[in-house]
Amino acid sequence: MVALRSDGGEMDLSVPENIAAFFEIYKVYGKFLEYYSTRAKEAFIAGLIVVQACVAGAFLVMSFTSVQIPLAVIAYIILDTALALWMVFDILKSSAQINDRDKQLRTACMKISAPLLLLPDPSASQLRQARAFGAIASYLEHESVISANLFGARITKELAVRVVAHFFSPRAFLRIQGWFGTTSRAMRFLGSFWSSLKMRSLASSLRPFGNRRSTREMRLYWGSYGKTSDPASSPLALLPLPPPASPDAPPRTLIMTGTTGFVGSLLLRDILEHRRRFNVGKILLLSRPKRGKTAASRYDAFFDPTPMPNADPFSLLGDVISREEFQNIVTVLEGDVLEPGFGLSEADSELLAAQTGDISVIHAAAAVSFTQPLVDAAASNITAALKMQELAKGLGGKYVHFSTAFVHGNNLTEADAPLRETLFNIDLAKHDPQKLYESMVNGSGLAPEAQRAYGFPNTYCFSKCVCEHLLTARSSETPTLILRPAIVGPSCASPYRGWAGSRASTLVAGALLYLKSRMSAWHLPDNIVPVIPVDVVTRFALVKIFAAEETPEKNIFNVVWGVGSHPSALFTWQRFSEMTIQLGAVSDMYSRFTGLLTQHLFTVLVTRQNVEGDLAKFMFYHRWISRMPFEGKIKLLELTGYSAAAARLKKMDSFVDLPVLFFNFTRSNFYFQSDLVAPSHAFDGAEYMTLCGLAGKNFLEKTAFTHTTIAGSAHKTKELIKDLPVPLPTDLLWAVSNPQGNIWIRLVGYILTKILRLTTTSVEVDLESFSELMVHIADERRIAPDGEGERHHIILAPTHRSLYDFLLLSYVCFTVPELGMDLPHICAANDFASLPILGHVAAGCRAFFIRRGGGRDPALKKSLEVIKTKSKSGAFLEVFVEGTRSRDRRFVRPKTGFLRSLVASGGKHTLVPISISYEKTPEQASFAGENRIGPKSGLGGGDGLLDWVVKVVRGKVRLGRVRIAASSPIAFSDKSNVEHSVRLLQQLQSKRVCVSAYHIAAAAQCLDITPDLLTRALGDAGAEMWEGACSPPPTPPTTKSESWSVALQCLHHFAPLLESPEWSSWLFASAPSSAAPASPAMTAVANALSAAFENAERGAQAAVDTLVGKGFNACELSAEHVLGYYDCAYPPAPLRNNGIKLVIGRLGNKAVEVVAEREEGEEPPAPGPDEEAFGAWGFADSKFVLTDKKTVMMQSSRYKIGGQPLPKLIPFLEEELGVSIDVAHEKLPPPRPTTKMRVHASALVDAQRERLSSVVAEISYDDRVRIRHGFGHAQSDIAAIRAVDVTARVPDAVCYPSNETECQGLIDLARAVGLVLLPFGGGTNVAQMLLCPTHEQEPRPIISVDMSRMCRVLWVDQVNGLARVEAGITGRALNEALLQYGVTMGHEPDSFEFSTLGGWVATKASGMKKNRYGNIEDIVREVSVLSAGGGPLWQHHAPGTSRDAFGRVACGVELKDLVIGSEGNFGLIVDATIRVSALPAVSEFDSVLLHSWSDGVAFMRDLAGAGANKPVSVRLVDNEQFRLGQVLKGGGGGVVSALQKMLVTRGRGFEPKEMVAVTLKLEGSADEVALQKKNVKASARRFAGMVAGASSGEAGYNLTYAIAYLRDFGLSFGLVAESFETFVNFSNLSVMVAGVKAAVREEHRARGIAGVALVSARVTQLYSEGACVYFYYMMDGSGLKNPSAVFDEIEATARATILELGGSVSHHHGIGKHRARVLEEASGAGFKEAVRAVKDSLDPGNVFGARNGLCGGGGGGGQ
Ligand SMILES: Cc1cc2nc3c(=O)[nH]c(=O)nc-3n(C[C@H](O)[C@H](O)[C@H](O)COP(=O)(O)OP(=O)(O)OC[C@H]3O[C@@H](n4cnc5c(N)ncnc54)[C@H](O)[C@@H]3O)c2cc1C
Repeated sequence: MVALRSDGGEMDLSVPENIAAFFEIYKVYGKFLEYYSTRAKEAFIAGLIVVQACVAGAFLVMSFTSVQIPLAVIAYIILDTALALWMVFDILKSSAQINDRDKQLRTACMKISAPLLLLPDPSASQLRQARAFGAIASYLEHESVISANLFGARITKELAVRVVAHFFSPRAFLRIQGWFGTTSRAMRFLGSFWSSLKMRSLASSLRPFGNRRSTREMRLYWGSYGKTSDPASSPLALLPLPPPASPDAPPRTLIMTGTTGFVGSLLLRDILEHRRRFNVGKILLLSRPKRGKTAASRYDAFFDPTPMPNADPFSLLGDVISREEFQNIVTVLEGDVLEPGFGLSEADSELLAAQTGDISVIHAAAAVSFTQPLVDAAASNITAALKMQELAKGLGGKYVHFSTAFVHGNNLTEADAPLRETLFNIDLAKHDPQKLYESMVNGSGLAPEAQRAYGFPNTYCFSKCVCEHLLTARSSETPTLILRPAIVGPSCASPYRGWAGSRASTLVAGALLYLKSRMSAWHLPDNIVPVIPVDVVTRFALVKIFAAEETPEKNIFNVVWGVGSHPSALFTWQRFSEMTIQLGAVSDMYSRFTGLLTQHLFTVLVTRQNVEGDLAKFMFYHRWISRMPFEGKIKLLELTGYSAAAARLKKMDSFVDLPVLFFNFTRSNFYFQSDLVAPSHAFDGAEYMTLCGLAGKNFLEKTAFTHTTIAGSAHKTKELIKDLPVPLPTDLLWAVSNPQGNIWIRLVGYILTKILRLTTTSVEVDLESFSELMVHIADERRIAPDGEGERHHIILAPTHRSLYDFLLLSYVCFTVPELGMDLPHICAANDFASLPILGHVAAGCRAFFIRRGGGRDPALKKSLEVIKTKSKSGAFLEVFVEGTRSRDRRFVRPKTGFLRSLVASGGKHTLVPISISYEKTPEQASFAGENRIGPKSGLGGGDGLLDWVVKVVRGKVRLGRVRIAASSPIAFSDKSNVEHSVRLLQQLQSKRVCVSAYHIAAAAQCLDITPDLLTRALGDAGAEMWEGACSPPPTPPTTKSESWSVALQCLHHFAPLLESPEWSSWLFASAPSSAAPASPAMTAVANALSAAFENAERGAQAAVDTLVGKGFNACELSAEHVLGYYDCAYPPAPLRNNGIKLVIGRLGNKAVEVVAEREEGEEPPAPGPDEEAFGAWGFADSKFVLTDKKTVMMQSSRYKIGGQPLPKLIPFLEEELGVSIDVAHEKLPPPRPTTKMRVHASALVDAQRERLSSVVAEISYDDRVRIRHGFGHAQSDIAAIRAVDVTARVPDAVCYPSNETECQGLIDLARAVGLVLLPFGGGTNVAQMLLCPTHEQEPRPIISVDMSRMCRVLWVDQVNGLARVEAGITGRALNEALLQYGVTMGHEPDSFEFSTLGGWVATKASGMKKNRYGNIEDIVREVSVLSAGGGPLWQHHAPGTSRDAFGRVACGVELKDLVIGSEGNFGLIVDATIRVSALPAVSEFDSVLLHSWSDGVAFMRDLAGAGANKPVSVRLVDNEQFRLGQVLKGGGGGVVSALQKMLVTRGRGFEPKEMVAVTLKLEGSADEVALQKKNVKASARRFAGMVAGASSGEAGYNLTYAIAYLRDFGLSFGLVAESFETFVNFSNLSVMVAGVKAAVREEHRARGIAGVALVSARVTQLYSEGACVYFYYMMDGSGLKNPSAVFDEIEATARATILELGGSVSHHHGIGKHRARVLEEASGAGFKEAVRAVKDSLDPGNVFGARNGLCGGGGGGGQ
């Protein structure tokens, strides 16, 4: 056996080493190889690319929503997708095609020695395939390393590789290079650039952007900028001041230059501050006039306060000396050092010359310019210094000179050979310093030659070096002190942290330039920055100038951190650049992508080019990446007419080349000998670096760095490419380049950016509070006092006002990774999971779903454990303690269940209160429109969202500002009191809720007070205010109710002041009990609030009074009910709702807890197979149940709908009925098996019982059995049984005859002893046919004759298509039996599982498939009837012959016609001969959608014309039922269903609240079904319908079986529902349906019933002349004394309207007692007589005394 290698070679596996090697390697590559080892997997890759193209397409669509021009995006996507496709197809090609040019790839492939296929004899194609896999494997191995960094661990490596790799693939580059066939320098450069952008290096360079250290830096350093620090704990403490001068010593005189400059001015300040200590008597400042200002007035500015971002205004000298004293001590001499006699006036010259005593001349003036010609450099850096030294000499003083640390030519040093504090070693013989100086002044060649020879990078350093030599040469005459600072940076401590003088210099200027223009001035390598804070320099100078003892042997000092300093005191150029970029990105100056790009361009790429020391090489790159693009950009702007932008850019020209000038300082590490050695922790280099950046930022904008704007229209996006006329998908790039997050988070981040920009003005983050929090958390985690390894979980608990909340916190983490917050796992309610598309996205964005209010959820514990164990140090979880969104911005009662589960699942926890404040919430208007009380509508489906998105895109959504702030964390453990913790949490949340003018205006209007008063009151209450006005302002509230919800944003502050505790806790559930003393303004607001609340209660009371006046039971009124009668003159929702709740609560509304209602006792035994439910429709093993507060599920294994959660059902019913369903309280549940039913006893005495037993073997006197046989299945029947106390009369006994003899015996006995017989089939009728006549109507005992034992199929005649079947057989049993013979009866009423053949005949039933098989009258050919008058009746029997049947006959009046519809009045039907048909060859479902009910009716009418060629069943449902059908489909429908929905509503223009559906069943031969389909299509086309497919058809058809179960589920919660049907001609159909619906609604309203009537219609059976129409009506019976009876009364009204508008009394439900009166009134007298005559003749003793229909004499039932 051989193993095939990727390079085509073979590996002999008989060699043991090879086998070991094979397995070793296979382990590594196995995953890839498995993955790609079949064609199908290859297709998978291609599929991924398609997905990627779709994602790209989605991005494109999104880009249309932005203001950016999408053209660039299109180009980008096309290129991107093309590249992706090309890459994949290329990879899938065999490696044989790898051509010579791809040498690098080939080499990579060869390296892989993994055996790819283990085959005994590989075929040629397998060989090729193996090679291809080798290529893939090599490719993947090469690229896989880059994947995880980009998309996070949740995406599989493979997926990430496929989707992402091509973006920055070096292989792609190599290909391109191959095309060009070139290896030019430019191409190499491009290649290197390209590969530098590989994600791995990108990710690594991103690291400093997102690590936890950044948080600490943000908090400690960014927050510390501008603060003064205690010198004792600052680096200045390293330099203790010399001892004070002796009091006897003469006062010192200082003559200073350069005191308006950066170093000089601080030195002046320091000297003045310590003037007494050092006995400084006089200071003469030699200064030049400048820009029209005299020298003296230039010092005025040092007393002017300048604004400080984080502190009080600051003035440089004002806090160390008064202006008067300054003027006493300091004399400003106006002149110029370079001028003869220093350019002083005569008087000043004399003054200067007159100085005596202890004199120091300090020359701090310098021109730090690297581009000066030698002659100028000599003047400013040498001549001036020599003249000042000369002055000191003349006055007998000492001279202090400021040189530079960079006076050592090109000497590169090592740590063990640092730059010493001695003169630079120049060859004095060759280069005498004096001669060099002269050469510089007269322009001879000596100086330039020397500068070159010693490698001085600029004239500045060279001239400083020469100067040092000259000064030292003269130092024997004048004591000379030379101080050599390195790069001087801002202060580290004094006068405040980050002080940088009046002009930005060096590092600060670098940061400023970058922040301002994103034009990097620094091509910065990873070398240490030789910087020293200015206050360290001046302190050092102070120490040396005022030193008690002179150290003549050493007069030169390096003022820079010397060798031996702790590494923590240092930082590198690259780190500095990263920090600056980070600073700009976080403070919203440009996007992170821009930062990233520029960082790569300027710091990573160039430093990779090995340019060390090679200025020419460096300049080459500089030209390519800085100068040329800069000039190109200006050209482009000019050409395209953006001249202003071009002009702006041109101003930056002089800065472009700074990198070259600074090359010398950045190119290598410098090591200095110095007295300044920073020990560990004395000086924090990272902090100092940050101060440099912040100082730069402060020159740009003097704002405190406490907040940042992360999104919104005001969010500035100053991009590198901003000025270019070509827009780029910057948001997309931003989303991709952020350091954390998977593909979903990036996608959502991208979309959210766009949405927030379009909807909000700004989304602000209180960075200070978050960074404080994160530092706290980091400390906590570090301490870990409770044992090692215990994870510490952070529970972020935001306020919950909007769906935005779910994303905003994650958005903050994503946008500001410096915070070091992991993207949280968001705890969301199950409803989210079922949202189409959004549910998936939410899960991708780390949401996990919980059952709300459903008690203990084991699944939750499990998901929490998984989440918790995933993260090493502990998880970040986001939880909304209020549960659902607070619809009116109140602080509603927090929930504790989730937190308890959280603690139970282990680990340490910290609760973090987060406040998310909105000026306007997106949901505000719709929330205010929700008038209901109690459970609110769900999240809304895709439709609402789409509409909202459309509004957003049109710019119609203006929400104003959003602010996110954190409060102090709360430690939370299993020992914590959960209630107390959540209260505290809510109180902390409430404090940071921000109030704006928008809220104040709304609140003032609602309370009828002035905005000023409210503002004052809020100020007194300590509310956090939103400063300034928002532009554009949020759209104002349009309704009073909306105004109130806006007002409540700020009114919780007054909750503790309210007298009513109920209202106080309504407003703010966790309001602190003891309020601080209230100001008059606060009291005034609280009073106004109380008045509004009282008014709301008054309104509620008035509504209750009205309803009581209408006859309702006050203590049973529901809140919604009262709501319907609440006068709008009183305060609106949300006050109204609470007013109603309080008033109703006081009435003592007695809803009974389900638990209390349930009886104690053992669990009932499981129902037997096919056992019927008692007190409910259907099988005992099937019923609707609640799985949690909102979700309903059908518990059943019989029906397809069984087991599916139906989360939308309750919300749908609530929405349609306009009530909230109190699912916590069952009002009328079915009796449990153990419930003792109460009913009258059987009237049969023992003797009668004995007689009965003599004729029938099986008899029951059981109460439950008797009750069951006394009712059918209408809602009134079910309600009567559920009452438990059954007041109606029920049969005295139930007999189960099993044959005709027993039946006849019973009839004979009944006649003989005076019994009444009620035939009983399945007991499914809905017309009160089984209701017993009252004792007054019928004094004889009543026996129910249950036919269920007579259920045999007697014979089946397949030749003639006939079967004779006993009457007690159910439809279900009959179907099964006939199936054995390959035939069907085809009669399927919705009740067919329980109804019987006898019942069908007796009620004249109609089945779903009547179009093909006919109604019962078409199916039944003969019947056998046992009558009480004439004995057994058989129409065609000849004496002694069998009861063979014919077919159609014309033999006068037929027996079957007499008993069809006889409703048990004429006799006992014992069997029937029925028509049977062969099973259909094809049976299919289909469905059609139509735009409106009228279209639907027209379609039905049209299809009716198809005669026999129409589907076997055609049902049209109206919009209400259509929507109910959708709801009953369960779940969220998933992505496919959401897309389908979108296609139907958006694509085909179907209005969701108008459209109707037709469900179809097609049966017959293939040709017949094809013809039926054709007819359906044709009709659909005629009425603009859409054929919607089999699954909807099947779902609709099967749903019918669930409807009765649902009706009885509703009854448990007080919802009364029933159907009633009619036949109507087509001409009257539409008018009748509209009329009946209107009549029912009106009757419902007029009776004051709660909510609105849910009334809907469906057309079920089609005839050429008309159709059968079913109505469904549902009402909330709350508060009614007898809801069932009221329902029947309303149905009677509906029936009257039906008759009035052309409908019949019934189509198939029959008459019974329910419609007897209506039929009585509708029938002619003669006919009635005839019917009664037939009855008398067949049953002279009225044994069958059911009194149904016309045989009841109009008495009995409800109508
Ligand atoms: C959920 C549901 C769906 C329904 N769907 C349909 C439908 O699609 N189409 C339809 O037509 N109806 C429907 N009905 C109504 C009902 O199912 C029918 O009226 C059915 O025909 C009644 O049959 P049964 O066997 O249950 O009769 P029962 O309810 O037991 O009795 C009905 C009447 O027939 C008499 N009777 C019963 N058996 C005999 C017998 N052997 N000899 C003499 N008299 C007898 C009884 O005395 C009584 O008066 C539905 C009812 C429900 C609850």
